[in-house]
Amino acid sequence: LRRNPGEKEFHQAVREVLETLQPVLDRHPHYADTAVVERLCEPERQIVFRVPWADDRGRVHVNRGFRVEFNSAIGPYKGGLRFHPSVNLGIVKFLGFEQTLKNALTGKPIGGAKGGSDFDPKGRSEAEVMRFCQSFMTELYRHLGEYTDIPAGDIGVGTREIGYLFGQYRRITNRFESGVLTGKGIGWGGAPGRPEATGYGLVVFTQQMLSTRGDSLDGKRVVVSGAGNVALHAIEKARDLGAVVVACSDSRGYVVDPKGLDLDLLKEVREARGRVEEYAERRGADARFVADAPVWQVPCEVALPCATQNELTARDAGELIRNGVLAVAEGANMPTTPGAVELLREAGVLFAPGKAANAGGVATSALEMQQNASRDSWTFEYTEQRLEEIMRHVHDTCFETAQRYGHPGDYRVGANIAGFELVADAMVAQGLI
Ligand code: NDP
Repeated sequence: LRRNPGEKEFHQAVREVLETLQPVLDRHPHYADTAVVERLCEPERQIVFRVPWADDRGRVHVNRGFRVEFNSAIGPYKGGLRFHPSVNLGIVKFLGFEQTLKNALTGKPIGGAKGGSDFDPKGRSEAEVMRFCQSFMTELYRHLGEYTDIPAGDIGVGTREIGYLFGQYRRITNRFESGVLTGKGIGWGGAPGRPEATGYGLVVFTQQMLSTRGDSLDGKRVVVSGAGNVALHAIEKARDLGAVVVACSDSRGYVVDPKGLDLDLLKEVREARGRVEEYAERRGADARFVADAPVWQVPCEVALPCATQNELTARDAGELIRNGVLAVAEGANMPTTPGAVELLREAGVLFAPGKAANAGGVATSALEMQQNASRDSWTFEYTEQRLEEIMRHVHDTCFETAQRYGHPGDYRVGANIAGFELVADAMVAQGLI
């Protein structure tokens, strides 16, 4: 804590993991002897840089860029870039730490990293976003490479931004190095199914979790927070599995649509960068927009937080429990506060932590790297089928590990210990570095 003052999200993420590791440290004393925990909590490298760019009126802005290369014991650094005004070093470090364990859980050879900037793409023109991305990559490129560090998207970074970043990388290096970024467009190295992967994978995980209690998503009311990449695809997959998704949200409020969200309309609104309020206006009928309130007020059996960190508080958890929630699965990274997780656990609600439940995105990024390395183009069906297999594997690993360490049904313990063991064993084998 003293070494990283003010990095509250990073402290929260590390504390949440360390709280669950005692059984594994007791059982394997060589982890303590080789200071694996201390080394795991210290990023291998942290890069902070200036990103100057000019807006359409010629005014110069200066943003801050970050890339935290957290751990490369099991593969090259891998993790997304976030463009949002809230981004700071503590947030990037929390995300990089989580990413390290998540990537290990996928079973793919990828290390952990995260990056981004406090740049706000909202309200910026295409040309401004392009100039920002070009300036960002003009510094970042020297730290990247398909065997070194491979960024992807996150909040505020989608296929458009990845395109501008990739274009600038290609221009500076004079290399068409497909494997250096994932989340690329189809036609220039992207994997079909990558945009869908996190949301789809989340729902596959949720279905697996419900099946351990002889239940399924069929006929369940689902509430999703956010209306971005992860949220939209979670809504789609949940609907395909027979659930009725009754609400979603953005940073201004939520929309509730008791007969089920009209996904085509929602996608149309979001593709034009519209807000959920506009969805409610256009949908008419029963849909209703509620400003500045948490979407967790809407009664449901399954809750999928897919917006941002610490968005589901103890108060929200209390409301969900009173309304009879059966399962909460994190599409976002660390959206549930520690107090909320505790309440859900005490109430016996199934809880899937983000590092397991949202691992489908990065797993499909690893597939994209594999596709690029083989200079091939895969089909949507092929990647979707592999995504399902990977999510089942992640689920079973967490489930079995929790059982092995005496916490049956506790996916949080299972995910933390399983991810830790995979990274820690590789670190011990490779010596003191
Ligand atoms: P997007 O930028 O596509 O969407 C983010 C959504 O969350 C938007 O609806 C946004 O609303 C809302 N949101 C963002 N910040 C806040 C806030 N402070 N309060 C309320 N709502 C907010 O991002 P993604 O869907 O890609 O990412 C969402 C989450 O999932 C993040 O936690 C990310 O780290 C995680 N994740 C993403 C993966 C991916 O593949 N994309 C992979 C694994 C995890 P508004 O438009 O109003 O800002």
